[in-house]
Amino acid sequence: MVLINSQFLKVVNDEIQSKIDKKVNLFQAINRNVSLIKLDSGDVVLPLAPCVMKAATQAIVEMGDETTFQGRGPMEGYPFLIDAIIKYNFKSYKVKIDSDEVFINHGTKEDIAGFGDILCRDNRIAVIDPVSQDYIESNVIGNRAGELNENCQWSHLIYLECKKEKDFMPEFPKLRPDVIYLSSPCNPTGCVMTREVLEKWVKYAIENDVLILFDVTYKSFITDPAIPQTIYEIKGAKKVAIEFRSFSKNAGFTGLHCGYTIIPKEISGYSLRAGRSAGLNMLWRKRQTIKNYTPSYIIQKGAEALFNNEGLDWICENVNYYMSNAEILRRSLTTAGLKFWGGVNSPYIWVESPYASSWKLFDKLLNECHILSSPGERFGAGGKGFVRLSSFANQSKVMMAGTRIADMKI
Ligand SMILES: *Cc1c(COP(=O)(O)O)cnc(C)c1O
Repeated sequence: MVLINSQFLKVVNDEIQSKIDKKVNLFQAINRNVSLIKLDSGDVVLPLAPCVMKAATQAIVEMGDETTFQGRGPMEGYPFLIDAIIKYNFKSYKVKIDSDEVFINHGTKEDIAGFGDILCRDNRIAVIDPVSQDYIESNVIGNRAGELNENCQWSHLIYLECKKEKDFMPEFPKLRPDVIYLSSPCNPTGCVMTREVLEKWVKYAIENDVLILFDVTYKSFITDPAIPQTIYEIKGAKKVAIEFRSFSKNAGFTGLHCGYTIIPKEISGYSLRAGRSAGLNMLWRKRQTIKNYTPSYIIQKGAEALFNNEGLDWICENVNYYMSNAEILRRSLTTAGLKFWGGVNSPYIWVESPYASSWKLFDKLLNECHILSSPGERFGAGGKGFVRLSSFANQSKVMMAGTRIADMKI
């Protein structure tokens, strides 16, 4: 029999999801005609921009003609998309990113999860807690996380506690890590890192020689101009930070799959065995040629269209729609007397359970309001005592949800 990567067996036991499924199934068995309002989603509901559809359709027509046919694209992505990204994204932040520092991908998930490929297993890795479990489990299957202990934490990972008293901003680690995963706006807490907070992290990373893996999938939801939408706005960040960016949540690309990673050329790593350093940009380029192709010409043409006026307006409208959902939910949570974070500059709202556990609030939302939420445990031990509400839903449903939440007896 073939031998399997045993690490996978450590992540397939999804107790939390099956607990949720059981509760939902029981609810539906009793309430056959009730349709649940799903506010548990990390997936968007608004469709693609017409200019994206037009560009992608045009691209497929080109593919059907011998004179304009496109075969396999360049491994970093098409220059037209990379140029548009640099021109419209980074020029406006007055940040200098070179075209060979941009790698187009099928969404940030694959690059965040795959980044460990170019790093040594012995690196000490820090994650914030609570956090998207993808960051953690990709390290588990890559055998970089150690063993799961009784506190539901992995022995080789450093967990940076995010306390409500500090608006869920992570504490600095007591033990120096080699790599830190950070994100802003954060999923699940909905909290954003101010310029001041980011400056402290970049300073820490420079002083301690730490690599920051920065996830800004939700950057477009930042409406406050004082809050950075890219870590490279912070002086020195190009020496220490890799940034993951996506069209998924701001432009409805969760079904098309397109994102990009910025790997500055000045960041190097060291090989103990070879006794020399090498640039991470070069290593990632090699890794991509071995493992990946970029998204199709059709999809990259669609993504490029997001950078014309029509596309940029569409992104604004998308963000406004979801942020008004968040506002509806925030108002009703306030009326109900519930305490929460996020929902400003972020599509997620992190609600504190007034009861002994998050499950009690989850149950009340399910059984009394017919709302499906995400229990905090889904995002690690640090999520205990909270539930996440998502504003990625149809607005008429969110209004209904808001009315019911406002009427809740806590
Ligand atoms: C949705 C999500 C991603 C994945 O985005 P894709 O570009 O669709 O792969 C990455 N990070 C966080 C925090 C997310 O919530």
